[in-house]
Amino acid sequence: AKSQGKASYCVFDPHMDDEARERFELERALRQAIQTGEIVPHYQPILHLETHEVVAVEALARWQTKDGCSLSPARFIPVAEETGLILPLGAALLRQACSDMARWRAELPQSRLHINVNVSERQFHDPEFVRMVTSTLEQTGLPATALTLELTESILLQDTDTCLSKLQELDSLGVRLALDDFGTGYSSLSYLSRLPVHALKVDRSFVSALTSTDLKARAQSEEIVRAIIALARALQLEVTAEGIEQQSQYQRLCALGADHGQGYLFTPPLPATALTRFLAQKTAL
Ligand code: C2E
Ligand code: CA
Ligand code: CA
Ligand code: CA
Repeated sequence: AKSQGKASYCVFDPHMDDEARERFELERALRQAIQTGEIVPHYQPILHLETHEVVAVEALARWQTKDGCSLSPARFIPVAEETGLILPLGAALLRQACSDMARWRAELPQSRLHINVNVSERQFHDPEFVRMVTSTLEQTGLPATALTLELTESILLQDTDTCLSKLQELDSLGVRLALDDFGTGYSSLSYLSRLPVHALKVDRSFVSALTSTDLKARAQSEEIVRAIIALARALQLEVTAEGIEQQSQYQRLCALGADHGQGYLFTPPLPATALTRFLAQKTAL
């Protein structure tokens, strides 16, 4: 019958290979997990490197299944993007993150905390994106200036006019924009200077190479981080270093002049309840 979807037929097809079958199962489970709210944000604090004050938290999606498995976003976000499920998932995560942050700002003295939310390519290019962000802010009561959207460079390289006007619209709302995984993609400097971007996030690969035993790799990453920070200074952008695991990386980043940082050295991403405790302790210190 026509109503019988191709996919549901395929799953019983003995010729379908294991990879495609697994993929189909994952898509089905993902669809269900979004409906039942099984995918929630965890939160990783971003610290001011000199004062150790928590300036923001990054929302990172976590999928804990009922049978106790947990799946990495590196595994399910790409599937969500390819299937379009990233639209409902991304909207739900943004709403949860904004409402949690509105509560933390009301409850805790760190009333200037920011929430960083990752935005995938498919989400950003959705014509409803700006409207979705606006209504989420209205409904959760979070001020636009407390929201930072993390975008990758690749998003900005396509369809530059539409993209630029979207960024300008978000900027005029007061939403802040950070370029994620900076240095791993390709941005033309003149283009970057025209974008209403507020922060650059130095990719973890450069941070970890700062303490590599390979001295050449170490010297190179040091020069790259130095160049990113100089660029940020010239354009008056903030610099956040991600994936700081070691004290020596932290010290190099401070010396090089990075503003903010996040990483296992401080804390891994935490569930909302644990983050509430983390913030309360920070204040008590
Ligand atoms: P990302 O945005 O670059 O996030 C940073 C990743 O580094 C996170 O991995 C975080 O848990 C991990 N990390 C933080 N500190 C350290 C550290 O000190 N050492 C190491 N080794 N890793 C550290 P996670 O949570 O597995 O997320 C992976 C990627 O999945 C993210 O990379 C992001 O691109 C994507 N992602 C996660 N949540 C979302 C989401 O809600 N929406 C979208 N569109 N993408 C998301
Ligand atoms: Ca990110
Ligand atoms: Ca990143
Ligand atoms: Ca990264």
